[in-house]
Amino acid sequence: MSSHITRRDMLKLLAFLPVLGVEWPRVLEAQTAPQFEQELPNVLVLVFDALSAKDISIYGYDRATTPNLARFAEKSTVYHAHYAGGNHTSPGVASILTGTYPWSHRAFHLHGTVADSYEQKNLFSLFAAAGYHTMAYSHNLLVTSLFHQFHGGIDVFKRTRDLCLLDDQFSDLVFSNDFNAAFWSEWLLLREGKTPPASLFGGLLDRMRRFIHKGQLEREYGDLFPRGIPHLHSLFFILEHAIDWIAEQLRHAPRPFLGYFHMLPPHEPYSPRREFIGRFDDGWESVAKAPHFFSEGYTDESLNQQRREYNEHIAYADAEFGRLYDSMVQNGVLDNTYVVVTSDHGEIFERGIRGHVTPVLYEPVVRVPLLISKPGHHRREDVYTPTSAVDLLPTLLRAVAQPAPDWCEGQVLPTFDGGGEGERSVFVVEAKSNPKHAPLTKGTVVLVKGQYKLIRYLGYGSYDNKCELYDLASDPEELVDIHSSQGSLASALGEELEARLNEVNE
Ligand SMILES: [Zn+2]
Repeated sequence: MSSHITRRDMLKLLAFLPVLGVEWPRVLEAQTAPQFEQELPNVLVLVFDALSAKDISIYGYDRATTPNLARFAEKSTVYHAHYAGGNHTSPGVASILTGTYPWSHRAFHLHGTVADSYEQKNLFSLFAAAGYHTMAYSHNLLVTSLFHQFHGGIDVFKRTRDLCLLDDQFSDLVFSNDFNAAFWSEWLLLREGKTPPASLFGGLLDRMRRFIHKGQLEREYGDLFPRGIPHLHSLFFILEHAIDWIAEQLRHAPRPFLGYFHMLPPHEPYSPRREFIGRFDDGWESVAKAPHFFSEGYTDESLNQQRREYNEHIAYADAEFGRLYDSMVQNGVLDNTYVVVTSDHGEIFERGIRGHVTPVLYEPVVRVPLLISKPGHHRREDVYTPTSAVDLLPTLLRAVAQPAPDWCEGQVLPTFDGGGEGERSVFVVEAKSNPKHAPLTKGTVVLVKGQYKLIRYLGYGSYDNKCELYDLASDPEELVDIHSSQGSLASALGEELEARLNEVNE
């Protein structure tokens, strides 16, 4: 029988020595600490929720929404055709963290969780096995649900409520070992308003308590946030607190580390600090597009107004990113850290549709930013070949000299593998109405290959198997459907998508 102590185990043991009144062994300290610092790079993944590439100035948007991301881009690799795995949080984040598409990880519902097998197959468990100190935080409880599934590989799992001004959820405190079931039961019960007046959860007294708490917060922060304090349901927070906490972790966390930090802004509600309100009252309007058959009935005027407010919220998130970036520069964190900035999905304001919980998968919903700063690499590179969220996991493993697992569906990103920008296929999957473990027959799937994008609707009554094809090089706004006019191209892409669907449905 043999025992195996990993470097990670050793780091944990060493961390407890001062608590036990034991001095650090000088020989070990001299031999190990510099080795960790110098040899293995850290990895930091920053996700800003619902940040569409179409609304970012470095990707060609007319409004200067992201001046700090632009500063960061000057010393980073910028991916211009990067696609989320899905069009809302659960599938988008699960694709980043598992390196697989939603048809594999199955977290494609609005409150989705991954298939059990992925609880051990994800970014955290792989980096933990490689000896990394792993950290996770999210404002978004949909992401926190995934963290609970991946908790075996997470050393520092900062709870969402720890960085909130007010968190009125308490069912998961009572049932702390069963977060997902308890939390969603409470959320759905309260949202539906089906609780009886005398109920402890969501009854009259409980609602009054929440009302009083919220009023106290508004008196304290209302002047700074005139449109209301950023929140997701009953969790209220300000982004500044999360940024401060992350900066602190980056200074003091054991090396090497993997950090995945997920900020809710610019996700709605679009409630930035006062200084950003009115910044884009410039009269600019989006390209007018006809209402889609899945239109939600919004007028162009309403969509332009909401997109303006969304852009203000992006500018606020960008400013806070800039503050973190400056802190990383000052503290030398960038010298030995891969820093990834991306999003889980985008946001749409066109064709009568707003937000991201929609069956449509046009560019504003699915094309997201991806910028990666590499240690010792200080010039900008631009990559235009299509890439996917599922590529991050194998790429970050490659960056730290680890092999990609065979279940991963992504590829190592261009500039990391020494390869060129060869043509490959990238997929996006929307399936929130499809049963979790059934073959994929209801939803929307996208295949992007080179400059072409095929969209196929599945199981939507009279729209079942309807396809659209766009040439993104000549038609980036997806105005001219060429599916009928480009028959042979449409057939080839259609057959490839069909073959892949058949494969995953087996
Ligand atoms: Zn999201």
